[in-house]
Amino acid sequence: MPKNRNAEKRAIVRRDGPACFYCGRPRRNPLLMTIEHLEARALGGGNRIDNLRLADPLCNKFAGRRAVADKLELRAKWHMAEGL
Ligand SMILES: [Zn+2]
Repeated sequence: MPKNRNAEKRAIVRRDGPACFYCGRPRRNPLLMTIEHLEARALGGGNRIDNLRLADPLCNKFAGRRAVADKLELRAKWHMAEGL
C-alpha cells in the first residue's frame, strides 16, 4: 500500500499556500500535486517537512534530481515567466 501523503500535503499547503513550488501556479486541488524533495532523496534529502514542497507532477519531473541551487534557479526563472 502506498503511503497516504495527504496529511503532509495539507501541512505544506498551510505553510506555502496551494501553488506549485516551481511555476507558482495555484491549484484548486493541491492534493493532486506531488511532494517534491527539495534536496533529492537520492542526494541524501530527508522526509522532514522543511525539505518538502508541493509541485505539479510535470514540474517535479522536469526538476528531477538537480542540486538544490539549480532547482531554486529554475523556480526563479519560471516564476518570472509567469509574472509572479
Ligand atoms: Zn508547476
